[in-house]
Amino acid sequence: MSDRPEMFEGVDELWLDGEFVDFEDARIHVLTHALHYGTGVFEGVRCYETERGPAIFRWEDHLERFYDSGKVYDIDIPFEPAELTAATEELIRREGLQSCYIRPIAFYGYGPLGLNPSKAPIKTAIGVWPWGAYLGEEALEEGVDVAVSSWRKYSSSQIPTNAKTTGTYVNSVLASLEAKGNGYTEAIVLNKEGNVAEGPGENIFLVRDGEIYTTGLAESILDGITRQTAIELAEERGYEVHDEATISRGELYTADELFFTGTAAEVTPIRSVDDNVIGEGTKGPVTDEIQTAFFDLVESGDREEWFRYV
Ligand code: PMP
Repeated sequence: MSDRPEMFEGVDELWLDGEFVDFEDARIHVLTHALHYGTGVFEGVRCYETERGPAIFRWEDHLERFYDSGKVYDIDIPFEPAELTAATEELIRREGLQSCYIRPIAFYGYGPLGLNPSKAPIKTAIGVWPWGAYLGEEALEEGVDVAVSSWRKYSSSQIPTNAKTTGTYVNSVLASLEAKGNGYTEAIVLNKEGNVAEGPGENIFLVRDGEIYTTGLAESILDGITRQTAIELAEERGYEVHDEATISRGELYTADELFFTGTAAEVTPIRSVDDNVIGEGTKGPVTDEIQTAFFDLVESGDREEWFRYV
């Protein structure tokens, strides 16, 4: 098909409901429940090229979050974790990929419409494809210019923020569109209380006087797996990490350093917020240390419990 997005150009197959299917055949009905009401859950995972071959980073943690996200919506994923693992590994092998992004998704499919999804079948799919630096290679070195969004993050009292739900990403899309429309690379969203929550697809870290702060789970954030990784790497390097922090908007402007973490964004420095230069306006030393530790880790695949070698 000539109109295939460039990012999917080399993809031959996807996995759908227990079968490997040709890319063009992985189709669903327009009356799919999740298309109308956003009733799906998903994950984003990276597989890195290491000396021991392709290695999926923190797969078990992502799987656990996937099933947990499903629980919230009574999406009882009809495959065992071992089946999803085998399918993903087989897909990576079939596609011949050394490194890739992995997108598992489970959603209410084509059934009766209406807000009670219980009669709709649960569909499960997995796709893998190569995906470079999410905010650009240059961003990893130079940092990104971000703006605080006028859209607030929905509160965890309205929609669970610890579940990765397809429908709720309209909040992230609004924030991203606004930021890009105003000439920024990415947004930061504040929560209902007006404190910092996170990025549209990233958690946020702040460095002040040599200590590290990241917003707590009660601030209406997703409990990012890269966030957990960065906390651990920082603590191992002797940093004091405040991982239940409440961060005000003003504290962003006066931070020594700021950086985003996420599976897609990895560890990306932030060089300005609302046109206020952060620190020296480039990647700061603490950010550099955590980023280097992160890439050393994922490129070596050297921590048995965090890697699944394909
Ligand atoms: N917050 C949001 C809203 C996200 O979509 C993501 C990406 N999954 C993150 C944070 C970072 O989470 P992780 O490190 O697990 O990718």
